[in-house]
Amino acid sequence: METFISLTWSQDVEDNEARVLVYTVTHLIAQLGKRLPFWFQFQSLPQIRPFGDWVILMMPRGSAYSSMDWYIEHSIIPDRQALDGNAYLQLVEMEPWQSSTPHFDLALVGKDLNDAQGRSVLSMVRDGVAAVISVYQLRRSFEQEELIVKLSHLVAHNLGRVVGIPLHNRKTGLLHIGQNVYCAHLCAMRPVVGLEDLVELSEQIAEEWGLYCETCQREMGAVFVSRYYGIN
Ligand SMILES: [Zn+2]
Repeated sequence: METFISLTWSQDVEDNEARVLVYTVTHLIAQLGKRLPFWFQFQSLPQIRPFGDWVILMMPRGSAYSSMDWYIEHSIIPDRQALDGNAYLQLVEMEPWQSSTPHFDLALVGKDLNDAQGRSVLSMVRDGVAAVISVYQLRRSFEQEELIVKLSHLVAHNLGRVVGIPLHNRKTGLLHIGQNVYCAHLCAMRPVVGLEDLVELSEQIAEEWGLYCETCQREMGAVFVSRYYGIN
């Protein structure tokens, strides 16, 4: 089945930041395409659909699942002005069109993002479904130019997580941290838990648009091809 990557962002995301999301994902998928035979590129690479700060005009204003705003309003922690990452991802999983048109979902938000323990985090992921990325910490730590590079790496990392790389059955080059599996190579799929990890990653990766190692690129290609043919 043909799949797509949905890119959305909230109202408080700057144009520059939204552009990093769209360009990074487009760049990484195009890079991946260069490695695949034409037929596979044409058939199995996901479409990229930048919906942005979307509203479904056909639906009554403010009704459930009718706009990006609705998702934000329904996952905000009122007294903190932060988003509850789990609540947000749960809404994405529950959305009515999730089962009819399965897709990968990447969202960018301006508000701070909290994990289940109430800690401020850079991003949160539901493997195989969605990730939500916050620019809140990045804005407080970096100037514009640096923010763009760091955000690009964070987007690359989360795209990989959503697609499900590194594959857990890889023979070597895996790192296990808690429940999560990361790539041990010089790669955007190295562990990125906090801001320090992101800084370290950006220092090691010279490519500005974020880069996956050979193994991760091969694995991502394999995920898309097998998804297209319905193989799990
Ligand atoms: Zn890798």
